[in-house]
Amino acid sequence: MDTPSDQADGMKDSSALCQVAVPVPIRRGQMQIYDYVAGPAANCAVGSIVKAPLAGREIWGIVVGHDQKADIAATRLKAVISLADVPALSDQTLRFLQAVSRWTLAPFGSVMRLMLNTPSAFLPPPEQTVFHLSAQLPDGVRLTPQRQRVLSFLQSAPPLPLADLSREVGVSTSVIKGLADDGALIRSSQPRLAAPHRGVMPSGAELRANFTLTSAQQHIADGIDRLADSFSVHLIDGITGSGKTEVYFDQVVKQVAAGKQVLILLPEIALTTSWKARFEKWFGYAPHIWHSSVSAARRKSIWRQAISGQPMVVAGARSALFLPFSSLGLVIVDEEHDSSYKQEDHVSYQARDMAVLRAKMHNIPVLLASATPSLESWIHAGCGGELASAEGSSEGGHSSWHHWPLNSRYGSAHLPQVSLIDLRLSKPEAGKWLSAEMMEAVMARLEAGEQSLLFLNRRGYAPMTVCGDCGHRLICHQCDSLLVTHRLAGRVQCHFCGIGQPITQTCPSCEATGSLRAVGPGVERLQEELSQRFPDARIAVLSSDTVQTSEADALFADIQAGEIDILIGTQMAAKGHHFPFLTLVGVVDADLGLGGGDLRAAERTYQLLWQVAGRSGRGERSGQVLIQTFQPHHPVMQALVVGPQDNPNEARDRFMQAEAEARQAAGMPPFGRLAALILSGSDIVKLEQAARHLNDIRPQFAKVDIFGPAQAPLSRVRGQFRIRFLIRSDREVAIGKIVEGWLSQAELPSGVRLVCDIDPYSFL
Ligand code: ADP
Ligand code: ZN
Repeated sequence: MDTPSDQADGMKDSSALCQVAVPVPIRRGQMQIYDYVAGPAANCAVGSIVKAPLAGREIWGIVVGHDQKADIAATRLKAVISLADVPALSDQTLRFLQAVSRWTLAPFGSVMRLMLNTPSAFLPPPEQTVFHLSAQLPDGVRLTPQRQRVLSFLQSAPPLPLADLSREVGVSTSVIKGLADDGALIRSSQPRLAAPHRGVMPSGAELRANFTLTSAQQHIADGIDRLADSFSVHLIDGITGSGKTEVYFDQVVKQVAAGKQVLILLPEIALTTSWKARFEKWFGYAPHIWHSSVSAARRKSIWRQAISGQPMVVAGARSALFLPFSSLGLVIVDEEHDSSYKQEDHVSYQARDMAVLRAKMHNIPVLLASATPSLESWIHAGCGGELASAEGSSEGGHSSWHHWPLNSRYGSAHLPQVSLIDLRLSKPEAGKWLSAEMMEAVMARLEAGEQSLLFLNRRGYAPMTVCGDCGHRLICHQCDSLLVTHRLAGRVQCHFCGIGQPITQTCPSCEATGSLRAVGPGVERLQEELSQRFPDARIAVLSSDTVQTSEADALFADIQAGEIDILIGTQMAAKGHHFPFLTLVGVVDADLGLGGGDLRAAERTYQLLWQVAGRSGRGERSGQVLIQTFQPHHPVMQALVVGPQDNPNEARDRFMQAEAEARQAAGMPPFGRLAALILSGSDIVKLEQAARHLNDIRPQFAKVDIFGPAQAPLSRVRGQFRIRFLIRSDREVAIGKIVEGWLSQAELPSGVRLVCDIDPYSFL
């Protein structure tokens, strides 16, 4: 790259080299770059995608520079094979990939794979035969009425393939073929384009005409508009039903009207038919939906449209962040607090943070919407008073962040009345999980013809099986975890590796028969309890075991139509749904997520329970929420107890403030930084050696604490033992650099895998 250009000028193309970043995961946080004879890639733009040979294979890589060499024949470099049939990645996109690699310490090769994972998109669309009118109708062509219809249709239509033409005109294909054989139609070849975006891109003004934001919503819109030309982060902190979605839809319209691309990230579970239907109703066309199970043909077409820079709206799960948008105008992260944004395989990244990074690279706004913002975003956006400035001070403050509260529901809908049931005082009967108060409340709903949702975030029948004779618990033979009973499926199953076995009557340890007891509740067991008590009620269970994604929509429709009386659900039931007849939400075990010493346990429990609570009373009838807990004085429970006239965010903010203070005192994120190193392998001896070796060379710095090595709480998953280190640093320390320096010294034996997780969310 440093060859003087005047020297290069006189050279032929054949002497041109190009540098290609290849998808080989070698160096953490860095690119793996190889030289190639440029061949077809001579003079191509940086960011071009090329096919090149590598270690006996052909791989797709990214051109990151050009070079010249006088004596190219003397080198034994291989040549680029071909160029992808797409424009080069934009400079912003390239810089984004680099920034992700640096931030996550993942090798650039692994990060670029996240983007180049749709290689079919690099090939031109296949050709297809289409029919159009010949310039002149040849003499003597017989004209039947059917033939007439074809000819007159094509007078005002574009050339069409056989099947489409026959469908559009309503004639058999033989009529069309006959016309072509007679010379009245001409066959020609053109690229097969993917089905176009349904509907037309409307101009912003048209659609907004019959829609007005409330003044509180408009205030936010104006604020975002003022900053729409550059990087800014907007936390839309609105209670459920306050119109956050309306506010961001309004921004989407403006961007699309300006010819820009918009990315909306949603938790995968929220990408439901109802969300899509709402979008279509608002916009008059469907968004491009992107997630793991989108068909290859759709992926190809979305990928090509993204890199072409045409205006489009993509609504996707976290992987949509890695589409090659080249004229991105706006990024939206809905339910920004959702923990599914944290990706933990291969490249471990937090999609919300990376969305902010992407917006920064493209110099555009990013909107984060939530009724229960993450503590990080809440602090960054300046909530939490002095704490916020304490946190921001090291980076000169988060001046690009803005906080936009929306404290009331749109229209007449009110928040539900939330109260606690103290399980120490109202004990359910032995082997039952619902208190008398809860049962009465459900009964009252049944009598009123309204619906109840009983929330229990536990799949299956019972989380534990214990032998009454010897005390043995059923555990997974390849994980360090309990086997969960699924009665409907007749199996016990490990929720970490998915392995299971039929339910047995015999204890595998003492071989006693009939001694195994199911301990604790799961949704299936709750169903048993409720149908014993209310034999005539229509009861449905909503969990990932009982409802396939494809069936979920049908169940939602039944609930919306009032055909279900009692819904029992895991967190699948918590998100985003709008059930107008649902007036009671009962939380069966509010304490479930609080144990375990997870940094975000309290925060997450609050978010989840508040989200569930928000399902109640969304229609015209007011709602009630009952929360069963053994810890009614826990700050999370106290933050949840609000009445319909309260501003729920006052209680929440007191809780967030206390959480933030505790995190600050402990130097935990966002006031400090964390990184986790997880060593795993099937050979415990080798693994412990590796851990000792890493420990021997552990770096020592001020303001950095290294904990471990320690067996991970879940010390074995899928037969792999796991040992963890946790690194904590003060905020001003570049923790990534420290980890990178440490690992660059390390020599790990084969068979030991090392995963590095910057800002970990899981501590298992
Ligand atoms: P959130 O995303 O905050 O939960 P939504 O955007 O879903 O809230 O709004 C809740 C309900 O109120 C929706 O049915 C929505 O259509 C309606 N709504 C919100 N704002 C307006 C508005 N300005 N005009 C008409 N309907 C609105
Ligand atoms: Zn297992």
